[in-house]
Amino acid sequence: MGRGAEFMKPIRTKALVIGGGPSGSTAARHLAGSGIDTILIEKNPSFVKPCGGVMPSSAFNELDLPRHLIKREVRKIRVVSPKGKEAELELEGGFMAMVERGGFDSCLREEAKKAGAEVIEAEFKGFAETGDEVVSEVVINGFLRTITSDYVIAADGAGSKSLASLGLKPPASIFTLSKILPGEQDACEFWFGQSHAPKFYSWVFPAAGGISIGTGSVRPENLRGLLENFLSRRGYEPGHQGSVAAPLRGWRMPLWGGGLFNRGRILFAGDAAGQVMPFTFEGIYYAMKAGSFAAEAVASGRPDAYKKFWRKRFYARFLFMKKLWSLFGNSEGLIEKFISMHRNPSVKEASMRLWLNKEMDGKALLSYMNIFREFLS
Ligand SMILES: Cc1cc2nc3c(=O)[nH]c(=O)nc-3n(C[C@H](O)[C@H](O)[C@H](O)COP(=O)(O)OP(=O)(O)OC[C@H]3O[C@@H](n4cnc5c(N)ncnc54)[C@H](O)[C@@H]3O)c2cc1C
Repeated sequence: MGRGAEFMKPIRTKALVIGGGPSGSTAARHLAGSGIDTILIEKNPSFVKPCGGVMPSSAFNELDLPRHLIKREVRKIRVVSPKGKEAELELEGGFMAMVERGGFDSCLREEAKKAGAEVIEAEFKGFAETGDEVVSEVVINGFLRTITSDYVIAADGAGSKSLASLGLKPPASIFTLSKILPGEQDACEFWFGQSHAPKFYSWVFPAAGGISIGTGSVRPENLRGLLENFLSRRGYEPGHQGSVAAPLRGWRMPLWGGGLFNRGRILFAGDAAGQVMPFTFEGIYYAMKAGSFAAEAVASGRPDAYKKFWRKRFYARFLFMKKLWSLFGNSEGLIEKFISMHRNPSVKEASMRLWLNKEMDGKALLSYMNIFREFLS
């Protein structure tokens, strides 16, 4: 058979994973590791997501990730209230691991490949059929091809084309604007205030090659103005390299709605499913866990089990954090209170456990919930 004929052969696999970010690569690694014929497609292998890249150190053990991906260990979290009151958490028994998303994502795709997945540079365009077999249209090297599979795990991030192709509404989003500045930073800082981060927070994180600084809002308008407000609050002079004239990157961060898992044999994971923790807005760890749960469901031939696996592990925590966010995120007065509470050593301790230990048992979550009982009742 000539090369042309070989190239045009229909592609068939048991499982197709769309999107080679943390969620998709983890799903592909687990699928291939369970002996399932798997193709992972990524439209742009050199894409570097604008992302703070902060993960709890415990995730590295739990997800069996190579330690060389940790570019920096951060042991301090600082939260600043709208009125400028600070609370500082010194992390013990773990740390916040900073990763550089370009290298991190490439390494995860490599791990999927090592486990036996075929990794292809290809862009998903839409579903042609979604019955017992799923037929996906993809562009490979400029040619439109189809990939037929028994299952699809759609992990194509915020703005997912797979959701759009099924006519499903994407999760609501926070709109973010951020950039990397030169400099040194010892802590992960979270700054609250409606003037620069309405219903969200602005952040200053250590990053590979400098400091990541950014803000977000539920509304896309005037993000530049909000970031200017934050830079000036953080002490940057106008015209300093901290001004918004430096390169900026905007990206959407999905808000968790709770209901999106699968449509038949198509399973949604990570940002595509809005699985970002409310309030803290951590997404990397949860995207990877969702990828592994989706893979486990596919491997067992029970796509509906995915929802069960996810809910058993994360539902209570997501629901609680969503309640906290809708309560505290809406009121500067309550945020002041929330931050003052975090000066209390026992609240600090409970909060630290919540941040660092994602395998936390129900008891630890309950003790954190109890702190906020009076607000939640
Ligand atoms: C500014 C910002 C800062 C953040 N900071 C943090 C943080 O510090 N810590 C944290 O835990 N989380 C953070 N997050 C959230 C985190 O980045 C995401 O939750 C996480 O990347 C989700 O992983 P994913 O694999 O689901 O999606 P993505 O990382 O978005 O990966 C999706 C992949 O799919 C590919 N793709 C998209 N469309 C197609 C297509 N049609 N065909 C083929 N491939 C496609 C993309 O190229 C991409 O590689 C941040 C988010 C933002 C916006």
